Amino acid sequence: MKVIDTHRHIWQRRCWSESVKKAFAMVVARKQFPFLDHEEILPHIGERIEDLDGSKMIRDMDEEGVDVSIIHHIDWGMAFKDDAPATIEQLNKDHCELANRFPGRVYSLFAIDPRRRPGGVKMFEKAVTDWGAIGLNFMPPCGFYPNEPICYAYYQKALDLDVPVSIHTGFQHWPGLSNKYARPMYLDDIGVDFPDLTVIVNHSGMDSRASSGWWEEAVGVAETKLNFYLEVADWQKSMVRAMDDMAELVRKLKVMRDAVGAHRILFGTDQPAINQTDFELTKKWVELFEDLPNVARKYGVDFSREETELILHGNAERIFRLN
Ligand SMILES: [Zn+2]
Repeated sequence: MKVIDTHRHIWQRRCWSESVKKAFAMVVARKQFPFLDHEEILPHIGERIEDLDGSKMIRDMDEEGVDVSIIHHIDWGMAFKDDAPATIEQLNKDHCELANRFPGRVYSLFAIDPRRRPGGVKMFEKAVTDWGAIGLNFMPPCGFYPNEPICYAYYQKALDLDVPVSIHTGFQHWPGLSNKYARPMYLDDIGVDFPDLTVIVNHSGMDSRASSGWWEEAVGVAETKLNFYLEVADWQKSMVRAMDDMAELVRKLKVMRDAVGAHRILFGTDQPAINQTDFELTKKWVELFEDLPNVARKYGVDFSREETELILHGNAERIFRLN
């Protein structure tokens, strides 16, 4: 079965300011080497996942069984105060160029912090029309609410360009970012004001075990906002470990399917993994979805092959016009 990962990253250290590197080192120190001071691993941070030309991503995709990936760049600059060495325009352009090197296999979203980025909306338009970006990515925990007026010019532009908007929800991984902006409820206004804009609720409100309450909120919001899509990236990895409780995972997928329909659920991974365990979990994540009808049946839930095809590739192909 064709697999489209609608949420993946390319990590390149040149995209990171010193503060982002430090935040990343703190995350790794906590997750992998809790006995180490993050300062000790800081000089090596990102080495394992550094991918300057996309070749590591393609190797990972091949091993995971992922056919197509949509990469999300993140504009960290305003959250961490010190900007990355390259401009936001250059970083976005580079991501699009990298995606264009793998036609039919990799696509890129345009990413920006909507605050104080002069010419940002025009840049977004250029990214879609000239560079090949296929949508917009917002990371509200960098310090803005997704329903703030400053975001609305971008939503209007996305609507005019007829491309989806992908917005992070759920408690996130980075010290230095603010979780309060990541509540799914703040997307509700966007659904009211832009009922024709395709909005992807990244992580469906759950990017850690702690935000499972926000998962319910995300489903609740998406149920009545018929232009919203629920996405499951990162649920497989160490922050959530959804596959540790298969009965609960299948229940959650059923609740989502019953609330919004299989035609509004998207598969994702949030790769690359920072360790081998998460990489192995991602392979299992792909396998699980490919075999969803059989897996769900074991827990008394019916998922048809057609529904599985929609979640794994059909919905992404339709909303991003990948065919
Ligand atoms: Zn992500």
